[in-house]
Amino acid sequence: KAKQSGRNRYIEFVDAMTAQQERRLQIAAAIKDGLANDEFYLLYQPKVKPNEGVVGVEALIRWNSPSLGMISPNEFINIAEQTGRINDITRWVIEKGFQQLITFQAQFNTQLKVSFNLSSLDIFRPNFVAYLVKALSNPNINTQLIQFEITESAYIENFDTAQTFIGKIKRLGCSVALDDFGTGYSSLSYLTQVQADTIKVDQYFVRNLFNSEKDRKVTDAIISLAKKLGMTICAEGVETQAQYEYLHQSGVDQIQGYYFSKPVAMEQLAGTLKRIDKQLTTIAKKA
Ligand code: C2E
Ligand code: MG
Ligand code: MG
Ligand code: MG
Repeated sequence: KAKQSGRNRYIEFVDAMTAQQERRLQIAAAIKDGLANDEFYLLYQPKVKPNEGVVGVEALIRWNSPSLGMISPNEFINIAEQTGRINDITRWVIEKGFQQLITFQAQFNTQLKVSFNLSSLDIFRPNFVAYLVKALSNPNINTQLIQFEITESAYIENFDTAQTFIGKIKRLGCSVALDDFGTGYSSLSYLTQVQADTIKVDQYFVRNLFNSEKDRKVTDAIISLAKKLGMTICAEGVETQAQYEYLHQSGVDQIQGYYFSKPVAMEQLAGTLKRIDKQLTTIAKKA
């Protein structure tokens, strides 16, 4: 009997593996058509400077596949990386993002900073810098308003390549943020060497701010070190007023999270920026 149930469990395990494998293959195939058929779109999430207002937005990709439904970038970016499609996605994001930024600026006559997420594989791609140089040479794009986000782990695992890459894009006038900082198990001392100008404290720390005293202490240490090094600090995943107040008082420069806004379509952005300005006025009155 024991043998029988063990065997059943094994079969279930294989079935689950196969189902997972099948989904990955389906997604990989659908990405290719999805790019050709315009199934992807971008949302933008504001970054808020306390007492001042929105200082920029982060472009976040979305995919509504006709055959597979909504698929999170957490799932498909990874598959795109493993199947050689990531650079096509990155280029699509940059092209779409630049177009939408230019339209937004023409319509609202305002300077908006936009960040784009890059994959570590983009950094390795030999022609990618040349591609960026060309894209950024668009006379309607102010390179000072363009930021690239690279995860801490991608940066550290490929340190020399990342340094060279970042040196080049900074010379073009763009800025660079270290994304998901604090989870990449790197030593803090390397922060003195990175050429990134901003660190984005990972959501993990924000979530645990009032649950774990140890995590709060690590958060405090990251903020204070980054400040001493003259870096800009952005906190991600801020959902509550208590988190906002704590991080603001700790000297965090930029707050990003549902507390101010979820990622929104470009058409909704102007309204969202106005709404956030009102929210900041209310916060200031209460303080
Ligand atoms: P990320 O760059 O660290 O982006 C932050 C993620 O947290 C986003 O998820 C955002 O929607 C979510 N988020 C923001 N505020 C809150 C909050 O207050 N609470 C919670 N629970 N979540 C919040 P999203 O859009 O699903 O993206 C997930 C990840 O996928 C991103 O993490 C990034 O690594 C990757 N990604 C998204 N767009 C792109 C892209 O265009 N290119 C590449 N290479 N990666 C992308
Ligand atoms: Mg990011
Ligand atoms: Mg992040
Ligand atoms: Mg992330």
